[in-house]
Amino acid sequence: MRTDDINQMGLGTRAVHAGQQPDPTTGAVMTPIYQTSTYAQAAPGNHQGYEYGRLSNPTRSALEGNLAGLEGAEHGICFSSGVAATDAIARCLRPGDHILASNDLYGGTYRLFRQVLGPFGVDSDFVDMSDVSRVEQALKPETKLLWIETPTNPLVRVVDIRALAELAHSKGISVAVDNTFATPALQRPITLGADLVVHSTTKYLGGHSDVIGGAVCTNSDEWAEKLRFLVKSTGAVPGPMDCFLTLRGTKTLEVRMQRHCSNAQAVAEFLEADPRVARVYYPGLPSFEGHSLAQRQMDGFGGMVSFLLSDDSMEAAYRVLSSTRVFTLAESLGGVESLMNHPATMTHASIPAKERHAAGLHDALIRLSVGIETEADLLRDLDRALSKA
Ligand SMILES: *Cc1c(COP(=O)(O)O)cnc(C)c1O
Repeated sequence: MRTDDINQMGLGTRAVHAGQQPDPTTGAVMTPIYQTSTYAQAAPGNHQGYEYGRLSNPTRSALEGNLAGLEGAEHGICFSSGVAATDAIARCLRPGDHILASNDLYGGTYRLFRQVLGPFGVDSDFVDMSDVSRVEQALKPETKLLWIETPTNPLVRVVDIRALAELAHSKGISVAVDNTFATPALQRPITLGADLVVHSTTKYLGGHSDVIGGAVCTNSDEWAEKLRFLVKSTGAVPGPMDCFLTLRGTKTLEVRMQRHCSNAQAVAEFLEADPRVARVYYPGLPSFEGHSLAQRQMDGFGGMVSFLLSDDSMEAAYRVLSSTRVFTLAESLGGVESLMNHPATMTHASIPAKERHAAGLHDALIRLSVGIETEADLLRDLDRALSKA
């Protein structure tokens, strides 16, 4: 299928076909794993578009085309991990520049901005972006990048991408959205005005908890050129096997996300109705603050649910966290299997307690990545674990 045909088609079709053609030499329908570091040239400089594996690789190119197709972007650029993708964007800033980011975000992004970029003179601040006026107040003349995560991690707050992109662009600030939680199946930030979409493909895009990867998608030729230069110069590239696995994952993205969403909705409603639970954080609940914005901005509410027990002691949370049989206690998210995580000691431990508390992240909060197992088994598992609280 031709690229311009595919881009007119639905998400499920793009997930399966974008970026991929039958292999030109053998007709292989699945993109081969091009396990090679270098490529033969007919004469110096006369090659078929590939010179050396750090610069590009056909398996990686197929994945890049696929991700760009899913996000509705001109360019897709793959990295060895989500944080490598974030790092590449941040490296385009200069000493004296300032990043304004969501205060409820992936812990590794906070660590990268504060502990790695800070000493190079790139400052960062973190605000609650679900409130546009707070973002406006926190902008500085030096702000060059707005870093949005929505839904946020782990409180799943919903942030108005369109409103923030308009605000940022009126001041010449670039906008990056970490779309890892929603995926392009549920939310396409570029169509809402973002300049850059970032992914940890390790999560829902790969979808099977068997590969680490990252990507940036953009419509800006200028950003794409800068990022490709960084890929070449700093070398955080994914291997061909990793690209193959991720590409296999993205083919089923739409159907997996439908099931993640329906299971998460059932889990959130079950928890909300249970007296042993004090508070449930899920954009699909009509009682949740970001619900109507999520309805406008997203095509589904995602697979991430957080909650607080009525007994909000650490001891009670620990008993629940160690009592499930279907949910596995582990970091990460977005795989077909259900995971349970304790942000304060696991994924968000790199954020100082004072800042976590200021952002509304309770020490006893439990975060769920709801998988695609049978709904009744997930509810029964949670019911039994809650009885241990
Ligand atoms: C996991 C994650 C990252 C970092 O990605 P890695 O692939 O682990 O480097 C960034 N953002 C979000 C929202 C994540 O969940």
